[in-house]
Amino acid sequence: MLRTYRYRLYPGQDQQQSLNDILWAACWLYNRALDYRRKRWDESRHSVTYYEQAGMWRDWRNEAPGANPLRRLNMSAGQQVLRRLDGAYRQFLKGQRGRPRFQKSSRFNSVNYKPGDGAAVRGSRLYVQNAGLIQVRWHRALPEGKLKNIVLVRKSTGWYVLFQLELPQPPVEKSTHPPVGVDLGNTHALALSDGITFDSPKSLQASLRKLRLLQRSVSRKKKGGRNRHKAMRKVARLHEHIANQRLDWWHKTTRHLADTYGTIVLEDLSLTFMLQNRHLSRSAHDVGLGMFRTMLNYKAMEAGVEIVTVSPRNTSQACSGCGHIVLKDLSVRLHDCPDCGLTLDRDVNAARNVLRLGYRRWALTWEDAPSVAQEAVRL
Ligand SMILES: [Zn+2]
Repeated sequence: MLRTYRYRLYPGQDQQQSLNDILWAACWLYNRALDYRRKRWDESRHSVTYYEQAGMWRDWRNEAPGANPLRRLNMSAGQQVLRRLDGAYRQFLKGQRGRPRFQKSSRFNSVNYKPGDGAAVRGSRLYVQNAGLIQVRWHRALPEGKLKNIVLVRKSTGWYVLFQLELPQPPVEKSTHPPVGVDLGNTHALALSDGITFDSPKSLQASLRKLRLLQRSVSRKKKGGRNRHKAMRKVARLHEHIANQRLDWWHKTTRHLADTYGTIVLEDLSLTFMLQNRHLSRSAHDVGLGMFRTMLNYKAMEAGVEIVTVSPRNTSQACSGCGHIVLKDLSVRLHDCPDCGLTLDRDVNAARNVLRLGYRRWALTWEDAPSVAQEAVRL
């Protein structure tokens, strides 16, 4: 099981310069190697191998020792750059992507090291060849495991390191916690069949409002002007901040689900997107559902929790008490059944239907089950 852990770096002034120099060299290498590949391909349809390029890299690096800025880039980190290019070029030759393009050094933002070769953890700091020992903010401990990659990353908010670890897969016992149905992204970001609802945090909503204001202010500024550039930088930073807030919130929410329930029943999202009435509300919420599924999947796996998916059809309209279809448009927040008198949050009602379908999954496929309404009657 390969997992990635990210930490903030605090390089000093000189170290920042050194790190920038390393990225510059990596970008230069990428472009130079790409240039060679393109020329050989255009001249003679010869496709250059990684090994040829690794040899060229050694030669370029050994030219004019002392004054050569390429020497700032670790030998095997350079090889990783070439492997990245090789992968991109192979895909291009197979017709799976466009021809790799030359990169701007301001946008070439990461270098990959093999642990112990140009980068390593030393005590509480990160050693990077030609940049020295860099302070790390260990906001959580790095787990024990085989370290596979160390990636240096430059972002508009600062420098980061990613550790890719191979973690042993622990034997997991099946969770004995109760099952739950989950409804995603209607009036609440998340609603559970036991009545609990989650909304995206106030701080995130505030950031999104701020983003809209900032974006408007960018569009009012003169194209190509200094002020527009400044405002765009602010927008980029805020985007990153929002992405972090989302990530953080989904981490907490999925942690809660995996720790509390033994079986989690969800709507099949690929089907959900085909159902137009709900599609609209989802894009409005913009909850990052793909991220949610990825996080939930691995947390569930670790906790012995099973995930079951069901078709979302009718889950929001059927009454979870009696099965009666109670039509309501998206502005209606309450499910109020004229048949059995059940009144509850519309999303919680939907989550209860999702859970019922989950139970039924074992005995019936969806094709056998004509509608949620009938399902609900039988239960
Ligand atoms: Zn009812």
